[in-house]
Amino acid sequence: MTTRPLRIILACAPLVVCAAAAHAQAPAGRAAADDREAAPGYAVTFDAQTQSAAVQLCLAHEYPTVAFAADSGWAMRFISDVKRSFAREPGAAKVDSDASGWHAAGWRAGECLSWRADLRAIAQEHKPDVGWQMGEDFIAAPQFWLLRPDVQASAEAELSIQMPEGWSISAPWRELMPSSVTAKIKKQPSLAALSTKRYFHIPNTPPDWSAAVAFGRFTEERIALPGGTLRLAVLHGADAGERAKLREWLDHVSRAVLSAYGRLPLPEVQVLVIPVGQLGRGGRDEDRAQAVHFGQSIRGQGNALELLVDPTRPAAEFADDWTAVHELSHLMHPYLGDRGTWLAEGLATYYQNVLRARSGMLTPAQAWDRLYQGFKRGAKTPGDETLEQVASNMHRSHAYQRVYWAGAAYWLTVDRDLRRASGGKMNLETALSRFRDCCLPAYSEWKPEDFVARLDALAGSDVFASRYREFAAMKQFPDWEKIYSDLGIRDGGEHLAFAADAKDAAIREAIMAPRNDSQR
Ligand SMILES: [Zn+2]
Repeated sequence: MTTRPLRIILACAPLVVCAAAAHAQAPAGRAAADDREAAPGYAVTFDAQTQSAAVQLCLAHEYPTVAFAADSGWAMRFISDVKRSFAREPGAAKVDSDASGWHAAGWRAGECLSWRADLRAIAQEHKPDVGWQMGEDFIAAPQFWLLRPDVQASAEAELSIQMPEGWSISAPWRELMPSSVTAKIKKQPSLAALSTKRYFHIPNTPPDWSAAVAFGRFTEERIALPGGTLRLAVLHGADAGERAKLREWLDHVSRAVLSAYGRLPLPEVQVLVIPVGQLGRGGRDEDRAQAVHFGQSIRGQGNALELLVDPTRPAAEFADDWTAVHELSHLMHPYLGDRGTWLAEGLATYYQNVLRARSGMLTPAQAWDRLYQGFKRGAKTPGDETLEQVASNMHRSHAYQRVYWAGAAYWLTVDRDLRRASGGKMNLETALSRFRDCCLPAYSEWKPEDFVARLDALAGSDVFASRYREFAAMKQFPDWEKIYSDLGIRDGGEHLAFAADAKDAAIREAIMAPRNDSQR
């Protein structure tokens, strides 16, 4: 799975946008649009007792009118007590509301909007991408409680949140420490531990990209790795021993991801592990019991990985599960839209096997076998539409096997082509590592054509784009048997057989060769 915008964007009223734009351009000769962009500043106080948040949003500039949107008309039910204030005085200025949100006319520079958000009601929806309650810990998607002003344009928002003692927050946002706070802590280091206020930058992603913010009595653990940090939160439902087991599993998984190009793809990743075993998903029924029920990489307001697990399952089952490596591999590419689903899922599906082999979670033979079994399953799907058409409708047609595995065949083909053409000097990781440096994190959607063109430019090749055109237009499953034959892999009955003298035997060895980050 990867991110799909799941909800319809609540479009701001066009008239309002026009009015703001006209005002923004009024002073002649100024690059007005940019400096009228409002970097919203949210000040939040979280109340654990009522499981609610008091939010104040202030804007530095004046506007003829500002529209504040919740995620949708439906989501407005979680917001109450919407009021304007100016210079700390509750003002008499009016706020109107309609089905699309709230509107304020005659907005003054420095004015604020305040409201109360019922986080408990959001959590109790018990829906993915909305909210979830587990004991005292809960998730409330921020699009449901942080109203977004239409004048924000491309500016990043800042947020401070006051947490009660003993409570934590896990968010996809970038944490920052204002210089005033850093200076105070420098003078008096003990303040750092006492501070219950946290400060964040909120990356400006499209409003309909989902995100998860968790509140609770968990301890957020920062796992510092080359290239970035995983911020791990295991929510309510796992005991100390189970948490240690999950932490160790995440260690293996991150080593696997580092075996691509030695660094995490992104500087900061929120990792939410949600124990659901005890809730009965998978239950005690051994046939349905599994360590990892579900995983997704989500991209709203930053980058995150969400894993629904049964923490009671043995460590060996976690080690054998591909989900986490698959989801972390999604961090190496930008969001590619529906047409690019096969490219995105293909990369994660290829790497869930390759990277686990390189880091020792699978043997190379096992990894080639997983790919072999997958290609066989994918090839069974009858095809009368192109791969791009099937991928665009995947969530209706459920043609997951074809899309995921034809995509994996694309990345294997490209990896093979690059290695062949360069005598082994260039490979997929070289291109993806350069892509990390130029273009990640990506806070907006990329066209799949632009992504492969950029990879070609970075690799000095044309294979990404030419193979892209070829695969996107394919009505049949790609000829994976020919690739396997060139790699010297054939079905030897019980096990795969590997020929030492095949054309691409050296490439086969190089793709799965064990490595760790000290080797690069
Ligand atoms: Zn995926």
